[in-house]
Amino acid sequence: MQKENRDNKSALKVNKGIEQPASFNPQAAKMLKGTKPGLLTAKEYAEGIKSGNRTILSKAITLIESSLPKHQKLADDIMELCLPFSGNSIRVGITGVPGVGKSTFIEALGKHLTTSGHKLAVLAIDPSSKRTKGSILGDKTRMEELAADPDAFIRPSPSAGSLGGVAKKTKEIIILCEAAGFDTIFVETVGVGQSETAVYSMVDFFLLLMLAGAGDELQGIKRGIMEMADAIVINKADGDNVAKAELAKREYKNALHLFPPTESGWIPFVDTCSAREKNGIEEIWEKIANYETRMKKNGYFQKRRREQKLKIMFETIQESFQNSFKNNPSVKKLLPKVERMVLDGNLSSYKAAKQLLEVYFKSIK
Ligand code: GDP
Repeated sequence: MQKENRDNKSALKVNKGIEQPASFNPQAAKMLKGTKPGLLTAKEYAEGIKSGNRTILSKAITLIESSLPKHQKLADDIMELCLPFSGNSIRVGITGVPGVGKSTFIEALGKHLTTSGHKLAVLAIDPSSKRTKGSILGDKTRMEELAADPDAFIRPSPSAGSLGGVAKKTKEIIILCEAAGFDTIFVETVGVGQSETAVYSMVDFFLLLMLAGAGDELQGIKRGIMEMADAIVINKADGDNVAKAELAKREYKNALHLFPPTESGWIPFVDTCSAREKNGIEEIWEKIANYETRMKKNGYFQKRRREQKLKIMFETIQESFQNSFKNNPSVKKLLPKVERMVLDGNLSSYKAAKQLLEVYFKSIK
């Protein structure tokens, strides 16, 4: 069980968990209404993006998020034009439970990066929930300094769709941001569910933010997530919390020793930091930069990217197939009856699936 808001003054405060998204950004199509997507051609969008025009980048992202077929077609064309100019960045996934200090950490690290000449895009997978009408990105002003920084671009993904949908869009948004010249991409997600696995499959480096003394269970961090981490950073190592953070660091280091060696040969590091006091931030980045250098040298960086590309191909096929199946008139006609029969126990799930697939394949012949 997650202990919530133990003490509002405590540095270990853990906010209430956030529900995972239910379906993908239905607002996007509405947002584009007045802007006449036909106004620009795919080529004009791509040119605008490549020249670093943020307004055009934002509009193209909204097209990607739109569910309207005509917007999607345009978004696909823009993507194709931007792809050859993408890839030249380091993609870092940052996860941790609500309240661990992700936005404070991203702001501190982000400012360090932009002041040292980097261009940073922060893509936040926003697990806003329809039921609570809440959005962790909307309930407070996050990353104020970065938001005003001309070298940073922050884009929450208002999500209201399947996690898979959100992840797919985020992968495409990464491509556009890279084509727009951002050399560092952060993908932020809330460490409460499966979103980590989705994010892991699109980044080069995966950083897990933790709190000291809160226990893995309390933080809802599953062992699998720790196994994916290239770094574990214990935040809020300030004030009375420094000793506890150091102790946690030792414990996590020991825990990581028990995990099987990584394919890359990289030994995940454990560090403490204070995002609020901006302590330990630069050192963390140095290690991430070192990871990039080493993994590029031994070829793992390129290998991981290649494998991710293949994965995206299969995901895209699967998604297209599912859509085609669901929208098939013959399937649609038969589905209610078959569903009822399965529910009433008059037809096995296997036979039902077989019948529907047969109808589908016959109809597309
Ligand atoms: P997020 O929900 O993970 O994005 O967390 P936030 O960045 O919004 O931080 C949650 C709370 O923790 C805020 O009140 C922050 O001021 C506080 N916080 C963040 N980083 C630190 C830190 O390094 N030390 C302390 N003491 N508090 C912090």
